[in-house]
Amino acid sequence: MNNLYVISGVNPTQMTINLLKYINPLSNKSKDIKIGIKPNLVCASPASEGATTHPEIVEGIIIYLQENGFSDIKIIEGSWVGDSTKRAYKACGFLPLTSKYNVPLVDLQEDEYVVKQYKDLEIKICKTVTEIDYLINVPLIKGHCQTKITCALKNLKGLIPDIEKRRFHTLGLHKPIAYLNRLIKQDLIISDAICPDPYFEEGGSPHGLNRIVAGYDPVLMDTYAAQVLGYRHEEVQYITLAEGEGVGSTLLNEAKIIDISSDKRNDVESELLGIKQKENKYLRLIEEADACSACYSNLVSALNQLNEIGLIEKFSEQICIGQSYRGYKGCIGIGDCTKDFNTYLAGCPPKAEDILAFLKGL
Ligand code: SF4
Repeated sequence: MNNLYVISGVNPTQMTINLLKYINPLSNKSKDIKIGIKPNLVCASPASEGATTHPEIVEGIIIYLQENGFSDIKIIEGSWVGDSTKRAYKACGFLPLTSKYNVPLVDLQEDEYVVKQYKDLEIKICKTVTEIDYLINVPLIKGHCQTKITCALKNLKGLIPDIEKRRFHTLGLHKPIAYLNRLIKQDLIISDAICPDPYFEEGGSPHGLNRIVAGYDPVLMDTYAAQVLGYRHEEVQYITLAEGEGVGSTLLNEAKIIDISSDKRNDVESELLGIKQKENKYLRLIEEADACSACYSNLVSALNQLNEIGLIEKFSEQICIGQSYRGYKGCIGIGDCTKDFNTYLAGCPPKAEDILAFLKGL
């Protein structure tokens, strides 16, 4: 059971259908179950940018499910704080799935929530999620500028309300992500590694891997994802925390990685391994304390652009960002949380272009 299944190719819809036919994941399930498909639509950018799930993969899942008699299917997602899920559904090419397959797109940013508790932590979870019988998680194998990588475990953060997403950052992200995975069980994972950005969760540097990976264990999947992106799983704290909480296993060496591609290549793993995280020398300029993902990512994006136009070397002062700066004084701050600083940029989160203009002005 604890295997990973890999397929490579150029047609994500057909690759997904082939994967599902091979692993036959719902063979013992009643046709009446309520199925939720959770892509990663963190922001409103097309999958070709490397940040969001390919709609073609979700289409392959829907075709497989409907051909096998499952009809109660929803796509569920809540984009990150500062972006709109509806905008993301549109920009990411998900609207045609509704009309073509009669599958609703649920905006979890507008959902009610219920409170659940695991150990010492209460977590708000979108109500729709609690009404689903079978959750298919469709994350990307992707880089993340705060947690190094994001894949199956962290993708569940889209299933909590915005207010809880913000709080997760104040709690340091890793522990609440691990605990969230005890409160929400993902039944099947189909990971998109078609052209993910290995450096940045907002995309912009897609890296063509032309690969989809399926499995049942989110810890194992994330261990694999970490390896693909050039990390040991121990370097991604929430993976080891989740393993410690019994969510899954990091023992990738003991799992079988089964390649079902028709044109099998012997160098598949060596091709995937070792995409190294870019050395972002200007990241040393950021003083981050509990920043929300969108806020932090917009700052990194602005610094990237500042670097490209050759202005980064002019910067020597630290730029502060994050919820822990509320009520504190300082020099340069980004976002409403730093409104007591001498110089700060308003916004929650401020846009990357506004941050760029603000930094240029300094
Ligand atoms: S300003 Fe503060 S609360 Fe708003 S997005 Fe940024 S870090 Fe989060």
